[in-house]
Amino acid sequence: MAQNGTTENGMAEGIPALCTKIFINNEWHTSSRGGTFPTFNPATGVKICDVEEADKEDVDKAVEAARAAAQRGSPWRRMDASSRGRMLHQLADLMERDRLLLATLETLDTGKPFLQSFFIDLDGSIKTLRYYAGWADKIQGKSLPVDESFVCLTKHEPVGVCGAIIPWNFPLLMLTWKLAPALSCGNTVVIKPAEQTPLTALHIGSLIKEVGFPPGVVNIVPGFGPTAGAAIASHMDIDKVAFTGSTEVGQLIKEAAAKSNLKRVTLELGGKNPCIVFADCDLQMAVKETQKGAFYNQGQCCTAASRVFVEESIYEEFVRCSVENAKKIVIGDPLDPQTSQGPQIDHQQFVKIMDLIESGKKEGARLEYGGTAVGEKNLFIQPTIFSGVKDHMRIAKEEVFGPVQCILSFKSQQEVIERANSSQYGLVSAIFTTSMDRALSVSASLETGTVWINCYNALHTQAPFGGYKMSGNGRELGEYALAEYTEVKAVTIKLSETL
Ligand code: NAD
Repeated sequence: MAQNGTTENGMAEGIPALCTKIFINNEWHTSSRGGTFPTFNPATGVKICDVEEADKEDVDKAVEAARAAAQRGSPWRRMDASSRGRMLHQLADLMERDRLLLATLETLDTGKPFLQSFFIDLDGSIKTLRYYAGWADKIQGKSLPVDESFVCLTKHEPVGVCGAIIPWNFPLLMLTWKLAPALSCGNTVVIKPAEQTPLTALHIGSLIKEVGFPPGVVNIVPGFGPTAGAAIASHMDIDKVAFTGSTEVGQLIKEAAAKSNLKRVTLELGGKNPCIVFADCDLQMAVKETQKGAFYNQGQCCTAASRVFVEESIYEEFVRCSVENAKKIVIGDPLDPQTSQGPQIDHQQFVKIMDLIESGKKEGARLEYGGTAVGEKNLFIQPTIFSGVKDHMRIAKEEVFGPVQCILSFKSQQEVIERANSSQYGLVSAIFTTSMDRALSVSASLETGTVWINCYNALHTQAPFGGYKMSGNGRELGEYALAEYTEVKAVTIKLSETL
């Protein structure tokens, strides 16, 4: 038995297969400064276990390992691209094998309903690995028709050491969105999971070792944002950082990157996402989809459908049907398969959401449903619907990140486009109409990285995801993400004879 009630491989005493240590060079390490931090089950408030706390010193060790693994001539750099792809497939195979464990850990650590973890988060994560496994030996340059007697070839090379800073709302999914393209392109990575939800990321460490990735290719440093996270953002030997989380922290990361070594930065940040529901839509479908968008994952989604604009003539009917639909949501133990809504992630988020609900009431929005906490000791909030919401209200402007749906009314297409776009954010939007002409012309006017037509949260591994304006920089997923993880080298050859 090693220190801190854990076995040598970092598994917590009494809880099989729970990894709790820092993962560097395919080995489990205790914290350099001897710190640990607890992780809690938000549904019960009970501590799950203590995790070794990575600090700047541990990040330095992880980066050193990742740098060595990324050197020219290292086993990872010499490996055939097709072999890299096979390793990603093997990682996906092991995630399928451990799917029940991973889904249970994800639900225990985040409070999200088990069936969501098991199907949506695990499916999405495994698909992402397989998708980028397929790309590994298809990342290729071009031969360019340059002027005069030259041949110019482009090569796509790995960026080098990539940092990944992960949020707590989709711990495994956001990890694979960064890990899979990074490895597919031949990079090495240092991953910092969110302090609230480190457990599935650490289990991925054990799978990385089992697959046999060379030591140092993947390193995982559980710790806090201002310490471990900031050490990644400002590290002189990290070449790129990918972040998902709040816009405020995104700004800090970009600043730290600029002030250190100008590392590349991709940011996936907040949203205040507009849905536009026209009178000619399939009303029941629009009610269901917009509500799925508002309440999915307890509303803790950057894609949350948080401003639903409904055309005046169907407004009352839409609100009535939305309230009826919300009554079907089952709040409860996230491990119970009947549950459709679990707790918020922690007390801080709970307080922030309740404060915004109060502000909605005070500013004159009509509370149609919910609005109160459920239970005394824990973090459950009723699905909440406000109608009569005006653009100036806090609930219409700020990211709530909780189960709160704001329904606004509109009169004309031109007016609603302007109001939808009048936000600092530009992540996603949705349009509900049976007229494809209208859907396509409105979609051309919306300033968001994704537009969904007659659907919501329709994310696909093959399609790029990212934001306009203050919702972020760069794109994750799809072929587009490969550009974020490669450097392009132009090799120009002078010919002795004109071609
Ligand atoms: P956050 O942005 O503070 O945390 C996200 C990640 O960034 C975590 O891993 C955290 O440890 C790390 N981090 C925090 N401070 C850092 C720093 N100075 N340098 C480097 N890394 C740092 O998010 P939060 O505080 O957990 O939640 C606050 C709000 O952020 C939420 O209410 C929500 O609006 C938003 N959020 C958005 C997303 C998203 O998917 N876009 C996810 C989580 C939270």
